[in-house]
Amino acid sequence: MARYSGPVCRLCRREGAKLFLKGERCYTKKCSVDRRSYAPGQHGQGRKKVSEYGKQLRTKQFARRFYGVLEGQFRHYFEMAAKMPGVTGENLLRLLESRLDNVIYRLGFANSRAEARQFVLHGHFTVNGRKVNIPSFLTKVGQVIAVKESSRQNDKIKSVIEANSSRPVPKWLDLNRDTLEAKIVAVPNREEIDIPIEETLIVELYSK
Ligand code: SF4
Repeated sequence: MARYSGPVCRLCRREGAKLFLKGERCYTKKCSVDRRSYAPGQHGQGRKKVSEYGKQLRTKQFARRFYGVLEGQFRHYFEMAAKMPGVTGENLLRLLESRLDNVIYRLGFANSRAEARQFVLHGHFTVNGRKVNIPSFLTKVGQVIAVKESSRQNDKIKSVIEANSSRPVPKWLDLNRDTLEAKIVAVPNREEIDIPIEETLIVELYSK
């Protein structure tokens, strides 16, 4: 499936906020959003007035890029969210949060969602004891996510987990750092999802 393969920091600057696509660098002074807080390109510093549609579109693009999801799949999540009971925008974020690649990133088993996707594709994780190599796999409350036994000695995996050992893990994930297993104990509340957007704008965009 085609994925964006250009410079990722440009995407953050386009959205005007951090998308955390580069792992450790995102938390340092080298972050391009911190150094140049205007949109990329020749007219980047001149763009000011944004229409209502523009705001909705930018919000959707931000969320899509934050989670590394392509347009068709993102729209599919929206349709699923609209059919679920509750608030559609929040349902959408919960679905995105429940993706296996996001859960791996949240647990600190990867430096970024893109890296988490790679690790999942390489079969380094299990769900309820069975290997799952599908990054878009939607996890559920009660499931146990773990680093596969044979991957625990993988140098790359070990160093990433070590480097992220002090990164906070959301409360809806109960991580055992000794066994490298985590149970999904709840569905995340909106306040526990740290994406700085107004998700209602996405609902407005897709409801046109
Ligand atoms: Fe975005 Fe990370 Fe690049 Fe900063 S360092 S612009 S957060 S990808």
